[in-house]
Amino acid sequence: MFALLVALLIQTPLENPPPGCVIHQTRTPVTVRAAPPAAVRSVNFLVEAPDSATAERVLAWCEAMRSELLRRWNSAPADHPNAVPPWPRPVHVVVHRHHPGFYATTFGGDGSVTITLWAGDLHLESTVRHEVCHAVLHLRYPGRYIPRWLDEGLAVCQELPDEQHRLLEPLRSASRRFSVRQLMLIREYPREVLLFYAQSYSLTDFLVKRHGEAALLRFLEASFNLGQEAALKQVFGYADYEALDAAWWSAFRSENP
Ligand SMILES: [Zn+2]
Repeated sequence: MFALLVALLIQTPLENPPPGCVIHQTRTPVTVRAAPPAAVRSVNFLVEAPDSATAERVLAWCEAMRSELLRRWNSAPADHPNAVPPWPRPVHVVVHRHHPGFYATTFGGDGSVTITLWAGDLHLESTVRHEVCHAVLHLRYPGRYIPRWLDEGLAVCQELPDEQHRLLEPLRSASRRFSVRQLMLIREYPREVLLFYAQSYSLTDFLVKRHGEAALLRFLEASFNLGQEAALKQVFGYADYEALDAAWWSAFRSENP
């Protein structure tokens, strides 16, 4: 499905790219064609871009987002709280001169990770923060199923405020929405993808603000063995999907009358 979606997007380059990105998983090593000319490297990222200034800027954003997330998510050793251990291999970031048709974080079967960006993206810093969040999350829990709503919701939570505001608009103006039960069980990007992103972000933001980011990660870890509905009850105390739906939707409506 992802390969099909990516293939379709490549065949029909978009004037206005979709929000966020496509998470793409493949069993084969990732190959990148037509690499842009300028390349800069740090311990954790290899960035290729149309020019060296863009490459340097993107590399700085990548490292900053990675460090911020790993520190917040307590990946630093207890005796060196500011030290974040490096990844075993760098994440490959390709910034295309021309719109590649999609933004993506692609996880290869050999452990490689490739982030696809576009130099003309007016919100490039926000997009970098989003995609690096996907990489940090998946590399933290290799081989685990990360629910699609949480993966995208947490990534949008790292974006800049203007972009978050824009991405929420489809939910403010929607005449219908996914129930929390539907949203949490979505495994592939649905047809109403703008609404899906808006709701995923809104629900994730609600849980982070009400219960804290550490609790959200505990929920994710609990869901690996218990499933999401039981993990909701154990970690947050919601009896079921419907109880969370009522609490979240009530809060959203009061903040967006
Ligand atoms: Zn994404």
